[in-house]
Amino acid sequence: MRVRSKAADESHAFRPSPCGKLPMRTDSPVVCLTVDVETDCPPYLRSARGLDEGLERVLALFAEESIRATFFITGQVAVSHPGMIGKIVSLGHELGSHGLSHHAFDTMDLRTAAQEIHESMNILTGFSSIRSFRAPYLRFPDSCLELLVDAGFSIDSSQARYKLSCYRKPMQTSLTRIPVSMTSSVLRLPGWICRPFLNALSSPVVLFVHPWEFVDLTQERLRLDCRFRTGIPAVGCLKSVILFFRAKGARFVTIRQMGEGGD
Ligand SMILES: [Zn+2]
Repeated sequence: MRVRSKAADESHAFRPSPCGKLPMRTDSPVVCLTVDVETDCPPYLRSARGLDEGLERVLALFAEESIRATFFITGQVAVSHPGMIGKIVSLGHELGSHGLSHHAFDTMDLRTAAQEIHESMNILTGFSSIRSFRAPYLRFPDSCLELLVDAGFSIDSSQARYKLSCYRKPMQTSLTRIPVSMTSSVLRLPGWICRPFLNALSSPVVLFVHPWEFVDLTQERLRLDCRFRTGIPAVGCLKSVILFFRAKGARFVTIRQMGEGGD
């Protein structure tokens, strides 16, 4: 049994989170890097360059920096790219569900939502044990929360601290809710702009990126925030973010580790 000193316990003191029941650490930040694995910039593009090229770049960076991350994967991508999903698991990362088809849950009836959730769980459990869920577009109605419990999920990461909906009276649920801290495009801003945003984040910090941000989409007809500094520059940006938090003494964990309080 591991025995911890009183001083060590105090240095890991928690205080309540304003958003959901997850506690926040008051010392060096706990940081979770997550990847929402889907086809390119849904619903605007039909290509899968991120899956074919971008994902490898993210995996290489995480290997170089010894980061274990959480990959939220759609069931359809798990079916179309089983080799890549197997590689993610073999590298020690956590798999979570990002729905089945990447359709927004707030546009579905409950029956369709239940099918999406259960089917994605069934597909992904063929690769790894699954506990964590994140809804596409970070849009997940409270009415669907129990569907996650029924399917065997214990952690939901569909809320966002930068959305007002995160601060509504929380619905009673047995799920641990771990909101994301900031939208992904901010991480691709030049360092002198990005760093003040990172500095303002409270622990636990949950960041997300997509495989398609790591292929060059600058010439695509997309919203500026979806295409600027995509490709190789985005790899450098993510590395800078990792180094920024490492310099602050951050501990990098998966969503599951964060939700279950393990190491
Ligand atoms: Zn998504």
